[in-house]
Amino acid sequence: MSEFPEGEHPLSSEEDALAIMTGGVPMGRWKEGQLFDGISPTPGLMSAANWFPKTESLGPDEMRIIFMGTSPMIRPGQANTSVFVQLGNGENFIFDLGEGSIGNYIAGGFALNELDKVFITHLHVDHFASLPYLYMFGGWSGRWHNPLQIYGPSGRTTEDGTNHMVEGMKQMCHWHRDAFSVFPVGQAWDLDVHEFDFRDNGGIIYDKDGVTVRHWERSHAKDGASGYRLDWNGLSVVWTGDGRPNRNDVEWAKGCDVYITETQASLMAISSGVAGVPPVVGRYTVDTHHTPGYAAGYMASLIEPRLLMTTHMAFDPYQNDETVVEIREHWKGPFHLGAPDGIVVNVTRDDIWVREGILPDYPNNRSPQQDFSSGQFVIPAPGTKREDIQNPGIRETEVDPAEYYPQGYHPDLLMEWPVDGEFVMSVEDMPPQLRQTMGENWRFREAYKEEMKRRSVDDSDK
Ligand SMILES: [Zn+2]
Ligand SMILES: [Zn+2]
Repeated sequence: MSEFPEGEHPLSSEEDALAIMTGGVPMGRWKEGQLFDGISPTPGLMSAANWFPKTESLGPDEMRIIFMGTSPMIRPGQANTSVFVQLGNGENFIFDLGEGSIGNYIAGGFALNELDKVFITHLHVDHFASLPYLYMFGGWSGRWHNPLQIYGPSGRTTEDGTNHMVEGMKQMCHWHRDAFSVFPVGQAWDLDVHEFDFRDNGGIIYDKDGVTVRHWERSHAKDGASGYRLDWNGLSVVWTGDGRPNRNDVEWAKGCDVYITETQASLMAISSGVAGVPPVVGRYTVDTHHTPGYAAGYMASLIEPRLLMTTHMAFDPYQNDETVVEIREHWKGPFHLGAPDGIVVNVTRDDIWVREGILPDYPNNRSPQQDFSSGQFVIPAPGTKREDIQNPGIRETEVDPAEYYPQGYHPDLLMEWPVDGEFVMSVEDMPPQLRQTMGENWRFREAYKEEMKRRSVDDSDK
């Protein structure tokens, strides 16, 4: 028989507890090997190695950056460039939206209608080509009450500016927009374009809820390329977009938390053999448009961020080590590749941690996120009917559903939108599943506001 009653073993000494619990690793201080102070997991991560979509919410003072597209050369593991920034207050910001990147947003569990602010660094298609998809399908999937907001630079002429590109996109999407007008529309087809003077270095183009975004001019072979810096709550991230390293970067990116620059390894001859690009084209492209690895490290040594990241690069074994060596020529501080797609960075004032995001190949769309502040769920009326946009003759050629549905099975077909005009329902009366899934972001934002109120009460108590 045990000397002690069940569950009442005598406690070990503090010295023994420390030896067992830390095992030689000082708890709370993760500086090991070549890691740096402050490079450690933020509280609240489910896994220190991987980010799994829809499993973590951000702390109220936390920023998360996800690389949704990482290369100028599109391929299945690397869509064209896009940097997604989420803030602990529930807001999100897209910086560039290259071809294919929108698939990674869906894989990341983000609803198309919650992606409503896009900042474009410049008008090379590898930085904006997913925009028509977001415009059309974001509208279809619930962006009924908030127009898409697009920020981008002016150019040498009116035709070179973001406004002109968006006008062209609207023309390109004319048929699609009219076709999708048989669905609820509201503000789905509205676009607010915020074109700024690309020469206005340091100009603030977004200033709301404590978030500012400023821009500056970059050298990318043609006027109109810009870099961006977002500041919020004492945290900042810079995405340079494409370009040659220039003095403006040092001035406006100085001291940021996460400095993300594009880069190209200096492997022109080998790369041309691997990627099939003639060496003269590769060399000329980099030397007139881009940032060599050596320059990326050099710029970081002047800017002194808490973390340097490089993206807009081929993520290939033969290049990655070369990139690191080139970066290390001048930059001895924290560095991580911003590639391949799905790299996730959590940032607080104390910690920065980089993980691999696990993006599924066959994700489902997230439910459209609605703002339930008014207590009502509102679906606008469709803009048009099939009869308005289709020759009746072709509808008459449709095969009678009774021919293909099996005997005894005949669903109620919804051949016309079932409601005339706007549909309005009290949120309380919604089926719980819809109320839950459509209100996730809204509830997150409300919780943030509560937390801020609580803090201000705490402060006034002091
Ligand atoms: Zn590019
Ligand atoms: Zn470019």
